[in-house]
Amino acid sequence: MDRIFYLDMVAVPIYAIILYATFVRKMITGPSNRAFTALLVVSLVTAVCDLMTGMASANAPMSDYEVGLVFIASTVYYLFHILVPIMYLMFLFAETRMGYQMTRKSKLIIIFAPYAASVVLLIVNCFNGVVFTVTNEEGYRRGPGVYVFYTLAAMYALWGVTYLARRRKMFSFAKWLSLGSMYVMNAAAVIIQMLFPRLLIEMIMTALAELYVVLLVMRPEDYMDYGTGLPNFRAYKNELLKVTSTDTRGTIVVLRFINARQMQRYLGDRRYFKFIRSAAENLKGICDKYDLEADIYYEQPGRIYILSDNYRFDFEKGVRELYAEVIGDIQEIESLGTKVIPRFCEIRYPDDIRDAETIINIGRQFHRIIPFDQFYTHAKEIIESPTFRIKNNMDLILNRAISNKKFEMYYQPIYSVKEKRFVSAEALIRLKDEEFGFISPAEFIPAAERRGLMVAIGDFVLESVFRFISETDFRGLGLEYVELNLSVAQCVQGDLADKIFALEKKYHVNPARVNLEITETTYENIGSTTDTNIRVLSENGFSFSLDDYGTGYSNMQRISRLPLKIIKIDKTLVDDMENRSGMSVMRNTVSMMKDINKEIVCEGVETAEQLETLSGLGVDFIQGYYFSKPLPAESFVSFIKEKNSEQTA
Ligand code: C2E
Ligand code: MG
Ligand code: MG
Repeated sequence: MDRIFYLDMVAVPIYAIILYATFVRKMITGPSNRAFTALLVVSLVTAVCDLMTGMASANAPMSDYEVGLVFIASTVYYLFHILVPIMYLMFLFAETRMGYQMTRKSKLIIIFAPYAASVVLLIVNCFNGVVFTVTNEEGYRRGPGVYVFYTLAAMYALWGVTYLARRRKMFSFAKWLSLGSMYVMNAAAVIIQMLFPRLLIEMIMTALAELYVVLLVMRPEDYMDYGTGLPNFRAYKNELLKVTSTDTRGTIVVLRFINARQMQRYLGDRRYFKFIRSAAENLKGICDKYDLEADIYYEQPGRIYILSDNYRFDFEKGVRELYAEVIGDIQEIESLGTKVIPRFCEIRYPDDIRDAETIINIGRQFHRIIPFDQFYTHAKEIIESPTFRIKNNMDLILNRAISNKKFEMYYQPIYSVKEKRFVSAEALIRLKDEEFGFISPAEFIPAAERRGLMVAIGDFVLESVFRFISETDFRGLGLEYVELNLSVAQCVQGDLADKIFALEKKYHVNPARVNLEITETTYENIGSTTDTNIRVLSENGFSFSLDDYGTGYSNMQRISRLPLKIIKIDKTLVDDMENRSGMSVMRNTVSMMKDINKEIVCEGVETAEQLETLSGLGVDFIQGYYFSKPLPAESFVSFIKEKNSEQTA
C-alpha cells in the first residue's frame, strides 16, 4: 500500500496553539476577535475529525466500533468543514464592519441557509450514504454528495475573494494580502491534492493561512492600551476608518478628562488606570442599559471614545444620567486631592461629519475650542468655528505656506531704557493664508514642530532676517541687533551653526547684529548637539537670549552656566505686577538677573505705568504694544527712523 502523508496532522497543534494564544492574549472581545475565535474552533474540530477518519480508514478492515467512530467523525467533519469558509467570511465581514449593516434575517438567509441544506444532506446520508459510507471491509468511501460540499465551499470562497477585491481600499496592502492568503493557500491545496492525492495538506494550508492572519492582522498588542487594558486609539482609528468608508450611520461620544496628566500624577498610574477603567465600564453600562451596540476605546492621557451604531439615542441624557450616578466615585477621587474635569463631545456621522480625520481632530481638539465650563458639546457647534477650521486644516495651511512662501517677517521694536531709544527688534514670523486669513504663530509653530516642518520654516526665518540686516542701515538708524527665535527642532540640527555661518558670509552680516532666542524647552531637551550649537555660535560672536522667562521652571544654576546675554521676562510676569506678590517676584527676578550679569528685556509692556515701574527696577529693555506692535520690515524702518531721530534731536 502507498504511504499516506499526514501533513495535516501538523494542523492540529497549530490550531491548538493559536487558540490557546488567543485566550491568553484576551483576543476574544469585539466582533472581529469573536469571529476569528469561532473560525479557529471550527478549524480545530475539522482537523481532528479529518485525522481520525483518515487514520482509521487506512487500517481497514475495521471493527464495528471503529466503523461507528469513523462515521461520527466524518459527519462532524462535514458539518464543520463547510463552516470554515463561512466563518472566514464572517470574519472578513467583521473586519470591515459589514456585519453591522446586515440584519439578522439576511445573515441567516445568506450565510446559514446553504448550511442548513448541507445538514439535511448529512441526515439523508445516514440512510443512503450519498455523501460517504463507512463499512467494515472498505472503511471510508466518498459518495457523489461530497460535490455538493465542494461546490458550497467554492461558492463561499468566491464570495470572499470578490468581497476582498472590492474592498481593497479598506486595508493596508500587507493586511489585505494576509486576508487573501486564506484563499490562495486553499486553492494551492486543492491543486496539490489533485496532483498528489496521497499528500493530505488541505488543513495545514488553512492553518498556515490562519497563522498568517494572526501574525499580521490580529495583533492585540498594537490595539490595546497597556495601562487600562482597553482597546487603544489605533483600534478606534481602524474602526472609524471602517465605519466612515461603509456609509453606516452612528454616534461617537468622546469623553476628555481635561486635567488627565495632573490626575495621573496625583493618583499614580495604578489608581488612575483603575479610575479610567471604571469610567469606561460605566459608559458601557449606560449603553447596555439602553441596549446600544457600542465599543469603547481609550487614548492616553485621558480620552475615552464610545463608538456606537445608534444614531437616535439621546446620548446627552445618558451621559448626564451616568454622571449623576457616578458622582460618588468622582468625589472619592477628588478627596484624594485632584479634580475630575470631564468634557463630552458628541459626533454624529455622517450627519455632522463624514471623514475620519475630521472626526479624530474634533475628538482631540474640542475641549480647546469650547468655553471651559461647557460640559457637553455637539460636534456641529464646533466644526464651523474658525479656530477649529484652522486646526483641522493645518496640514493644508502649512504645506501651502511652505511651498508658496506665504510667510513674512515682522519686527517689533525694543526700547533701551538707558539710551532712551530703540536699539533692537524681535523678528516675528507672520502667516496669512488665502482661505483662513491671519494665523497666529502660537498656533502654527507648535503644529509645524509636530509635523517636522519647523526646520524649513526656521530656514526661511534665518534667511529673511540676515537679508533684512544686510539691507538695512543699522548704524544710521541707531540699531544694534535683531533678536530671532530659534525653535527646538532647529537647535537639535547638527548643521545649524554651519547654516548660520553660511548666511553670515552670504550677507556679510556681523554676528554682533544677531541675537538668537532660545526657550527653556530648548535647553530642557538639551543634548550634546544643542550644547555644541550654542557654544560654537557664541564663540563666533553670536549672542543668545532666554525667551519667556517665568513661564517654566527655570533653574538659576543652569541659566548662569549657559552663555546667555539677555533674559526676556515673559508678559505674564509683567502683568502680575498689578498685585503685591507679583511685584515682589518681578523685583527679585530683576535683581537676581542683574547679579549674574544678564541684561533684561521685559516683554508685553502695554502701559506707561508698567514702563515706569520696570524702568525704576532697572530693567534694560522694554518690548511691547506700548511702543509698537510687530511691524512689516518697511514700516519698522520708518518707525525707527522717526522715533530714534526724535530722541537724538
Ligand atoms: P515670543 O517669542 O515670546 O514673542 C513675543 C510675542 O508677544 C509675540 O507674539 C508678540 O507679538 C507678542 N507681544 C509683544 N508685545 C506684546 C504686548 O504688549 N501685548 C501682547 N498681548 N502681546 C505682545 P507672536 O508674534 O504672536 O508670537 C508668538 C510666539 O510664536 C512667539 O513668542 C514665539 O515663541 C513664536 N514665534 C514667533 N515668530 C517665530 C519665529 O520666527 N520662529 C520661531 N521659532 N518662533 C516664533
Ligand atoms: Mg521670542
Ligand atoms: Mg517671549
